[in-house]
Amino acid sequence: MHICGPDIFLQEYINVKNRRIVVKVGTSTLTNELGNSNLYTMERLAMALADVQNMGNEVILVSSGAIAVGANKMHLTERPQSVRMKQAAAAVGQCENMFLYDKFFGYYNKTVAQILLNAEDIAQEVKKENLTNTFNALLEQKIIPIVNENDSVSYTEIESKDRLFGDNDMLSAVVAVLCQADLLIILSDIDGFYDKDPRLYKDAKLIGRIETIDESVYELAGGAGSRRGTGGMRTKLGAADLCAAQGIDTIVTNGKDPSVLYRIMQGEKVGTLFVGK
Ligand code: ADP
Repeated sequence: MHICGPDIFLQEYINVKNRRIVVKVGTSTLTNELGNSNLYTMERLAMALADVQNMGNEVILVSSGAIAVGANKMHLTERPQSVRMKQAAAAVGQCENMFLYDKFFGYYNKTVAQILLNAEDIAQEVKKENLTNTFNALLEQKIIPIVNENDSVSYTEIESKDRLFGDNDMLSAVVAVLCQADLLIILSDIDGFYDKDPRLYKDAKLIGRIETIDESVYELAGGAGSRRGTGGMRTKLGAADLCAAQGIDTIVTNGKDPSVLYRIMQGEKVGTLFVGK
């Protein structure tokens, strides 16, 4: 394992001008404890991403939260358990999320587009090519694609314990690779990757930079994450691993305050940087 503390860091490694940047935001950032949309965060996120694009970058947003938001809108008292209800909630929540994104990005004169994906869409060569073309066409037009799993269609994604896309962490990496992005930013409910789960250990220390993701790094990540998030750090490591192999840097940091994106653009040391090979 090659790791070093948060002091030795970032700007030497990433150049955040004229870059293609994928930003992933998790359910725990987009919703509050009651499962309601976190409007403050969503609006700040839209503003920050609009600015990141205005700085000359291309931006793709990978956004979770459809099931939680849908369940809330359907007045379900607890998170749906059956596949059919999860898929119904995803359909309702996706609509609500896109409505809010369209509105918030619209304030900043940005056009957004919805792309819903399943694992199979990337496994098939023809579909993969179609998708890449769609992304490129949207980005050329300065449109911000907003990507999510197609939960209402994909039985396996919702049901499987070993979800390939793990609450969109892996999906964001797959999209970053597909679009040949330069940087993946995973916004989580935690400041970055620690030497142990900080929710369980008060003395956990933030790791500033990781060069190689091997088994010893995976051992530092606990199981599935927070109540509303489902991926946990393992799936974020998997995502960073996939990107690193393709030369894409990944930053995992806290999305509670989306202005963290400005700090990243200025080359400030935030969260954990997983260095692309
Ligand atoms: P999100 O929905 O924001 O993506 P998740 O709940 O899926 O968040 O994952 C983040 C959670 O992973 C943290 O809240 C933390 O409890 C857990 N975790 C486990 N191991 C670690 C670790 N080594 N460093 C940081 N967080 C960890």
